Amino acid sequence: MLHEKIPHPSWIEINLTQFKKNISIIRSFIGSSLFCLPIKANAYGHGLSTIGKVAAEAGVDYLAVAHLQEGIKLREANISIPILVLGAIHENQILDLITYDLEFSISSKFKAELVAEKCKTLEKKCRIHLEVDTGMQRTGVRALSVPPLFQYLKESNCFEVVGIYSHLATADAPNDPFALKQIDTFTSLLKDPIFQGMQIIRHLVNSGGTAYFQTSHLDMVRPSLLTFGYVPTFSPEALREIEPCFSLKTKVSYFKVVEKGVGISYGHSYITDKQTRIVTIPVGYGDGYRRSLSNRGFVLIRGNRFPIVGTICMDQMMIDIGDHEVYVGDEVVLIGKQGNDEITAEEITRLCDTNVYEVLCFFNDRLPRIYLN
Ligand SMILES: *Cc1c(COP(=O)(O)O)cnc(C)c1O
Repeated sequence: MLHEKIPHPSWIEINLTQFKKNISIIRSFIGSSLFCLPIKANAYGHGLSTIGKVAAEAGVDYLAVAHLQEGIKLREANISIPILVLGAIHENQILDLITYDLEFSISSKFKAELVAEKCKTLEKKCRIHLEVDTGMQRTGVRALSVPPLFQYLKESNCFEVVGIYSHLATADAPNDPFALKQIDTFTSLLKDPIFQGMQIIRHLVNSGGTAYFQTSHLDMVRPSLLTFGYVPTFSPEALREIEPCFSLKTKVSYFKVVEKGVGISYGHSYITDKQTRIVTIPVGYGDGYRRSLSNRGFVLIRGNRFPIVGTICMDQMMIDIGDHEVYVGDEVVLIGKQGNDEITAEEITRLCDTNVYEVLCFFNDRLPRIYLN
């Protein structure tokens, strides 16, 4: 971890007002369902502990993470709302999961028996969510094996079955037939008499599912990308005011005039076609800005859009500003709004053939997160 108090010329800015607004829009949209916010992978690049705290204060009911370490970090930040560890657990993590009061997924009989074994030595019950695989083929028990496993969990005195959940593989389109099939498999399973009269949180949908399958919100929803402001294309009107809260910014660190026919950066992949002005900015692939955006991406300076030229370096990149006027120290926006223009994460996604999730996750700890209220 770099020293956060020392000024850094490049930073990620998180607009907490917008983030909280997104939470309240989703909150109204989901009615009486509980709101679980998955904040794995450093809260999709937004910063795990701060986002966890702000979300808890803004009334999110549950947090979810992928791994034990993420859960511990949240507990160490004094977050006390329920936290669900989604990923499949390993034997040597069980004691910590229980000690840190983390809820976790049981995704097989084998895992359940491991937990029961460890649990014998403790006074505490394990709060678990039974994970059902309805078609993702990642983790989870098959629907057919759920009733006997549930019976086992109920009879063993070391488990408290808090929830049962599944995950959609194709929720990126409204009425996707496979998603509908998964929804059907899950809801049919829940009709099994074994679940009747039990207080169990049933949860299924991620962002796409929350937006597109409103009748399948069940007891709890798990929309993450949506909460960070990225709204699925065909979302209902009620979600349209959700907006991103993430910007990537830096300051011009160097300026020069370059003659026609001069190669820029490693390998000279860009040659100037006239006399021009080149500025350098201190962001590179070492921060998580994709190198494949070399000679393809854009930045905003003084409200104008300028191309990244030459190969992006580990710590720096060059921008061709033509005959515009720009000064060392001017603010540069790589993702976000400036003046009347905006560079969205979706735009970056198209240029480097990935998805918004990956673009956000790429930015690492060298970039401090600055939170605006
Ligand atoms: C990451 C994750 C989510 C959130 O997905 P989004 O598409 O960002 O809403 C929900 N559920 C599970 C099991 C996940 O792993």
